[in-house]
Amino acid sequence: MLTYKAPIADIKFLLEDVFNYYDHYKKYEEFEEATPDLVDAILQECAKFCENELLPLYQSGDKEGCHYDNGKVTTPKGFKAAYQQYIDGGWSSLSHSLEYGGQGLPPSLGMVQSELTGTANWSWAMYPGLSHGAMNTITTHGNDKQKELYLTRLIQGTWTGTMCLTEAQCGTDLGQVTTKAEPNGDGTYNITGTKIFISAGDHDLTDNIIHIVLARLPDAPKGTRGISLFIVPKIKTDQDGTLGEANNVTCGSIEDKMGIKASATAVINFDNAVGTLIGPENKGLECMFTFMNTARIGTALQGVCAAELAFQNSLIYAKERLSMRSLTGKKYPDQVADPIIVHPDVRKMLMTQKVISEGGRAMIYYTAKIVDDISMAKTEAERQAADDRLGFITPILKAFLTELGTESANHGLQIFGGHGYIKEWGMEQIVRDVRISTLYEGTTGIQALDLLGRKILMTRGKSLNDFSKEVLGFCKNKSLISSNPHKRQMNRFIWPLGKAIANWQQYSIRLALKAKSNRDIVGSASVDFLMYSGYIVMAYFWAQMAQSAYEKLAGDVENRDFYRAKIKSAEFYFERMLPRTKSLAKTMMTDPKSIMQLDQELMSFL
Ligand SMILES: Cc1cc2nc3c(=O)[nH]c(=O)nc-3n(C[C@H](O)[C@H](O)[C@H](O)COP(=O)(O)OP(=O)(O)OC[C@H]3O[C@@H](n4cnc5c(N)ncnc54)[C@H](O)[C@@H]3O)c2cc1C
Repeated sequence: MLTYKAPIADIKFLLEDVFNYYDHYKKYEEFEEATPDLVDAILQECAKFCENELLPLYQSGDKEGCHYDNGKVTTPKGFKAAYQQYIDGGWSSLSHSLEYGGQGLPPSLGMVQSELTGTANWSWAMYPGLSHGAMNTITTHGNDKQKELYLTRLIQGTWTGTMCLTEAQCGTDLGQVTTKAEPNGDGTYNITGTKIFISAGDHDLTDNIIHIVLARLPDAPKGTRGISLFIVPKIKTDQDGTLGEANNVTCGSIEDKMGIKASATAVINFDNAVGTLIGPENKGLECMFTFMNTARIGTALQGVCAAELAFQNSLIYAKERLSMRSLTGKKYPDQVADPIIVHPDVRKMLMTQKVISEGGRAMIYYTAKIVDDISMAKTEAERQAADDRLGFITPILKAFLTELGTESANHGLQIFGGHGYIKEWGMEQIVRDVRISTLYEGTTGIQALDLLGRKILMTRGKSLNDFSKEVLGFCKNKSLISSNPHKRQMNRFIWPLGKAIANWQQYSIRLALKAKSNRDIVGSASVDFLMYSGYIVMAYFWAQMAQSAYEKLAGDVENRDFYRAKIKSAEFYFERMLPRTKSLAKTMMTDPKSIMQLDQELMSFL
């Protein structure tokens, strides 16, 4: 059986010491209620809900899966009751607009809440998770009537939402979408087409489901410039929300898949279903992009959640499982063997898991502050500046953290030995469940092209330079370092970090120059470049965490072991993880010739 305890001490360390969240909240009048007391109370209550209600449904939900019967989907036992508790606890409305019934707390707190629910039970968390995507779209692009009707109920949680983009022929290349939207002349449209792989596309948690659908108007331009966005409810309603007749939206089937089995992944057929346009005509993809970054951070979080759950359970097991003796002599002579945690290889896996989950959490919480800034921007210039920062960091978070989350889950399975492969222990489920995170919301390959192509080469490195300035500012900040009695120790993080930043800039310039003569270098280097970038970004946060830990230790603080452990973890990160950049640098700078030269007909002789 898996266990889970919300890592409250680590969360508070990030909120209070590393990222100064309470000063950040004070910048905005709207967030004045987000005080340490309130946030602590939220953390405690959310932890209880996740540990006691959601975690027990994680393995049973996987075993039972969702049921499909004649167009209706039923979620596994206990899911509906847990969802009702979630609504009753006010969790769905936490960080949404006061105007439409939300509690108006910062989006960053919603992210913290999502981490806890997602770690306890990712499949369950996907139902409210998809709703948040729909809410963000309607908040940003919906008109007053749409907000009044749909947003209020999504915020209450009485209805849930979906994102219907993918069709059988296209997931990445949405320019190929063929779903049609015919105007009815009364402001409504008839939507016809089939969407596949729709998470939370059908279920029994709520009476109505609000689909956000990409479709083409008649005579729309081909490709991505001819796609519009529509709201299509499963059940038609009056403007006051009273449910009416069914809306020609049917669930054709649900997928039998590798993991997240308790999350319904549905084929949804729209057959002249009535919907309304959201945002301007033919700007559907642009509208989607405005919240895509936040949705991608939500998926990046899945990597951290899996890393945390795998780490917590591996650590317990590694302390209990006895096998052979330590190479440096018996550590527990009164037992038949030493616990496997004494073995360097097992420790290396555990430490890797630890730095991935804590470093990943830091990356997410840093980014969550930027999301707050966007939501509170008073001018277009402010919004754009924050959006540029978010746009740069998002592909790194999404791809790097999901790849590392997958690595951590695999280490977890390995630490359990053969038992890791057996369902009862739950470790193989974490591996299966996290695997999707590198695929949906844009694959690792697509995030990598976005980073290197759009965010670096197309901006001539501006966003990288801006981020580098921030990191170098941290490295050079004399007062920060000299006020620290542990200045010398901090230097072992600061120097390699500064050097890594300089290399990162140089390599991107060299890649830009190479790409001028051979565009394939962008595609052959991009994933290595993204992972390379990820290790440097995570190093920045490990250095910050070490800095904060030293500052705490310089004072009269309780729980000194917590801060000492942080510094030792940072040491591990810099010695064992950051050097991975060296091999990535080598491969990303290598000419694509050996990748491209072999004729596809000669790849196999079967
Ligand atoms: C469990 C699950 C839940 C999902 N939930 C949703 C949902 O709620 N809503 C929704 O709309 N969709 C959803 N999806 C769909 C998901 O987002 C897509 O599967 C994903 O975007 C990839 O698209 P694809 O499957 O069509 O792969 P393809 O686009 O066919 O890609 C295949 C491979 O080719 C690579 N590739 C493609 N184009 C390029 C290129 N130009 N350069 C380099 N490499 C390239 C990709 O990286 C990938 O490795 C879900 C999928 C699954 C499996």
